[in-house]
Amino acid sequence: MAARAYRFAIFDELRPVLARMQGPIGEWDDVVPGGVMLWPGMLVGVLAPDGRVFACDTFSDGPWYEVTAEHEACFLIVLGAEYRAAPELLGLLPLRPAGATNCAGCGGTGHERGTGWVCFGCGSLGWVRVEAESVTAPAPVRPPGR
Ligand SMILES: [Zn+2]
Repeated sequence: MAARAYRFAIFDELRPVLARMQGPIGEWDDVVPGGVMLWPGMLVGVLAPDGRVFACDTFSDGPWYEVTAEHEACFLIVLGAEYRAAPELLGLLPLRPAGATNCAGCGGTGHERGTGWVCFGCGSLGWVRVEAESVTAPAPVRPPGR
């Protein structure tokens, strides 16, 4: 079964900013009507008016998909805040929950050591949820039929 789309809560103060950021975005407008292009790089990201994020790996010419992983959605928001000069977007990012640990990939800074690139592993948050760290643990046995 497909994972649920990650969805940001669009707050009222952000709406005029998003409205200003809209505009002719060419091919993306067909994919996400009314969306805001965040980043036109190898991983193109578009923020939909309902808070979902859509992405397309242009390096592999891949199809558009709804972003389901929090770190990937946050990664694109942070890139968008920088690329589109819209720091207001950062207000969408989740607050660090109790129990989160510093991201090992960036040491908690949100940017990769050396390159300074936005850290994909944590979406530039600098922390990872405890649940996300247990991804490699054996999956729990589920009863048939869920
Ligand atoms: Zn990180």
